[in-house]
Amino acid sequence: MRIDKMLANLGYGSRKEVKQLLKSGAVRIDDVIVKDPKQHVDEKIQTVTLNGEVIEYKEFIYLMMNKPPGVLSATEDSAAETVIDLLEIGDQVYEPFPVGRLDKDTEGLLLITNDGQLAHRLLSPKKHVPKTYFAVIDREVTEEDIKAFAKGVTLDDGYETKPGELKILKSGLRSDIELTITEGKFHQVKRMFEAVGKRVVYLKRISMGPLPLDETLELGEYRELTDEEVELLR
Ligand code: URA
Repeated sequence: MRIDKMLANLGYGSRKEVKQLLKSGAVRIDDVIVKDPKQHVDEKIQTVTLNGEVIEYKEFIYLMMNKPPGVLSATEDSAAETVIDLLEIGDQVYEPFPVGRLDKDTEGLLLITNDGQLAHRLLSPKKHVPKTYFAVIDREVTEEDIKAFAKGVTLDDGYETKPGELKILKSGLRSDIELTITEGKFHQVKRMFEAVGKRVVYLKRISMGPLPLDETLELGEYRELTDEEVELLR
């Protein structure tokens, strides 16, 4: 990768600013001052420093986003804004993508990474990674629904879901619930409620595997996972 591209994409300024930085002699590759913006650097084996400070280049990036409604879980789209459009760091260097999909109107925990292996493991149906959702339902959710979900329900296309763990947080004309499922069929939570004659009016993912949503993240905000959190996901 070109040194100016690497520095710009890591947030050290625009290409123009980075050019100035290089011109000033502040940047070294393996202890040799580099002034040419076109200079190639192999980020994986060479050490880049800026005013003597090592610039950390990581192979993988792991982000947790609190996905806002109205934004697509996709890398690009010709019309709608995507979760990748919301990123301000490293989106060009790391080429991250969302791990699975949340519907456009769904909020909450979305992992974004460029680690294909980890994403594959988290999404593999064989791994049964639990995902927990908070939802508001348009009517009363009952003990019968808990039992039906515990057995698995039949979706509109005839698919029998695996058991889901349903908890009623607040029951009434509108109910607040939590549902944990280990699959990720298209619109699964919404369709499971449709199978028992009810409608999801609000949906938010609150955990994925061992990771709860960091509730300090406002809608649309994201942060890097800690090393410990990444280990938990492996
Ligand atoms: N189930 C749904 O219906 N929608 C989502 O976004 C996620 C799970």
